[in-house]
Amino acid sequence: MNKYITEVLDKVRLDNPNEPEFIQAVEEVLTSISEFVSENPQYLENGLLERLVEPEKVFMFRVPWIDRNGKVQVHKGYRVQFNSAIGPYKGGLRFHPSVNLSILKFLGFEQTFKNALTGLNLGGGKGGSNFDPSGKTDEEIMRFVQSFAIELSKHIGANIDVPAGDIGVGGREIGYLFGQYKRLRDEFSGVLTGKGLTHGGSLVRTEATGYGVVYMLTNVLEHLEETIVGKRVLVSGSGNVALFTIEKLIELGAKALTVSDSKSTLYVKNGITKELLEEIKDLKFVNRGRLSEFKDKSGVEYLESQTPWGIKADIAVPCATENEISEDDAKVLSKNNIGYVIEGANMPTTSEGYEVFRRNDIVFVPGKAANAGGVAVSGLEMAQNSQRESWSFEDVDTKLKSIMKNIHRQMVENGTTEDRVDYVKGANIAGFRKVADAMIAQGVV
Ligand code: NDP
Repeated sequence: MNKYITEVLDKVRLDNPNEPEFIQAVEEVLTSISEFVSENPQYLENGLLERLVEPEKVFMFRVPWIDRNGKVQVHKGYRVQFNSAIGPYKGGLRFHPSVNLSILKFLGFEQTFKNALTGLNLGGGKGGSNFDPSGKTDEEIMRFVQSFAIELSKHIGANIDVPAGDIGVGGREIGYLFGQYKRLRDEFSGVLTGKGLTHGGSLVRTEATGYGVVYMLTNVLEHLEETIVGKRVLVSGSGNVALFTIEKLIELGAKALTVSDSKSTLYVKNGITKELLEEIKDLKFVNRGRLSEFKDKSGVEYLESQTPWGIKADIAVPCATENEISEDDAKVLSKNNIGYVIEGANMPTTSEGYEVFRRNDIVFVPGKAANAGGVAVSGLEMAQNSQRESWSFEDVDTKLKSIMKNIHRQMVENGTTEDRVDYVKGANIAGFRKVADAMIAQGVV
């Protein structure tokens, strides 16, 4: 490994001792660009890497709100503005009890390279709260979001920082945030993406991450002269990314065998049907229920406290959360001859799990490339908002396909050695190069 990179990694470990996810993400990126940086000495100067691994700004704030029993609750709010070298900060907000600074810094760091890969001018950021939306009433969600927005609104803006959704933050939360921002700032602007279609949202934004994951998968398969038709796919999660991944898989003729949540997995041996998917969408998006409610459904095997990774299939698409594929899971998947792992979630594979896939020559596409369709369409939403236009579904979908194809091309160009594409290396080098060149051009800032 390059000596400078080793020193930067040591410093990151020393400076951020309680941030394992952030350290994991930095190690993954810096390790895979080590050789490239050695061959391109302009990246070794002016503390470039030290600056790259340090967020430009981090805001932390108190979010007090009153629950349905009149009791005051207090949560932590965050916005990490990681890197603005190529555009305004852009990245989602996550509401989940596990949210802490380490997770948001890892997500903001990853987002910086992901956004660069889209080819759009978007910097990297991430934010959220340790607030748990599950089991809360609509009124509680609104009160919490309005309190969160009071502080967040001081740091965001259409040309400054444009948040979107992530785990626990969907159209409802973005709508409440947008309404409160508009009221506080007296302006109707493209300050948030993932908005409803009634107030400046873009068609395809809801579906974009999941559809983009499957477009990436088709690019990977085509590159290997394979087809998606008939492939058996394990999908984890049952949120936005998972369910729209499944929708596109079904449309293109693949078989999605599973969905899961943090408590269980539903296994459908012959593949989830369109009709069942609609029922799951209703359960999750409308009634906000648990998969356990489908326990006794015919044709569905209910696997209590299990993940999908023990089931035999051709492709695994983890779409739930970080580090959901452990080393042991990766060993089981490899033993079962999984051919491809396409990350729908952000960093769902542990470092040890990734090593297992690498050793077994399993095609592995990292989240920062595979799930970039969401932020790409967010970028398209920003463009529509600035132009006061609304593009058709077909227009946006065509642009999304072309962005995913372009990301695939960049990975192939930067990650091919001999006959094999190292998609991790390809994604990291392509994303790094764009951000680093912009940072160099802007001087030491
Ligand atoms: P949702 O909140 O819509 O769904 C999350 C899903 O993951 C739920 O099924 C949830 O189950 C499950 N999950 C969450 N935490 C855990 C956990 N600790 N263990 C097991 N399961 C868990 O989120 P999204 O679908 O939006 O996001 C999923 C992933 O995709 C995240 O990594 C996110 O960062 C990433 N992503 C999302 C984008 C988007 O546009 N939404 C864009 C790019 C990446 P349960 O209900 O039981 O918690």
